[in-house]
Amino acid sequence: MTENIPVTSGSIRQAAAALKKLRPAYTAILDFYEEIFVIQKEAESELKIDTAALKITDQNFPLISVSDFIIDTEASELLFKKICEIARRANAYMTGIAEIMLSAVETEKICLKPLFSALLHEEDSAFEKIAREFDIDKAILVFIAYQSIRPSLSRNAEYLSADMAEKESGYEKGCCPVCGMLPALSTLEGEGGRRFLFCSFCRHKWPTFRIACPFCENRNTEKLHYLYSEEEKEYRTDVCESCEKYIKTVDLRKTGRIFYAPLEQIATLHLDMKAKEGGFKSAVG
Ligand SMILES: [Zn+2]
Ligand SMILES: [Zn+2]
Repeated sequence: MTENIPVTSGSIRQAAAALKKLRPAYTAILDFYEEIFVIQKEAESELKIDTAALKITDQNFPLISVSDFIIDTEASELLFKKICEIARRANAYMTGIAEIMLSAVETEKICLKPLFSALLHEEDSAFEKIAREFDIDKAILVFIAYQSIRPSLSRNAEYLSADMAEKESGYEKGCCPVCGMLPALSTLEGEGGRRFLFCSFCRHKWPTFRIACPFCENRNTEKLHYLYSEEEKEYRTDVCESCEKYIKTVDLRKTGRIFYAPLEQIATLHLDMKAKEGGFKSAVG
């Protein structure tokens, strides 16, 4: 099955090319994300993280508190600069912000280490302060900082979840068993369409119930529905009338192309719009 091919920078490029062919309207945004995901993948092999030092929580799940993720600061700083360069080329709005950030980092007016730490401690004030000081869009600063630490987060999650398959089989919650954050996407895979969730924060993938809302754990089928279009048979949007949230689902039995979850999430923004028009909310912003 295509979904089990190990992710490489080459497979990310192939997945992006297939999506651009399928949905040309997304070409510019997919180009932007493809560059970021490729350099993240390339950075992974160079990461220096003392995974043995990870503090595992006392309870079964989640395995770790978000604040205890270990970040390779040097690699993340390098990525921050590279992502700013990508943003600089993306569009006129991003160019100005990326240039301000690059120059502030080079002249040490912005120190990135505390920003990475602020992300893990959900300290929004650190971002607000810099956004105000440099008159830049805070959301873009948060976005680039987060994308810069993402390879480190994935490395932590891979290490922590290495022996988890068996333990996870009885796991019933909709939040990530590694870090406790909410899922960003779900898939149906293999014979019988087993359902998996993808963490919005550390990218861990875990099996889940086929019919259940991952956000409020509602299993009442009268309150669980999905939005579906005949034109895009591989997608559906699962909606829950109990908590009014939705999650996008990709049926990998129907895609027949290389799948990379973070790209798929971008190429389905029209599904987010439809779900929101229908009165449902995204759980992950
Ligand atoms: Zn996670
Ligand atoms: Zn729900």
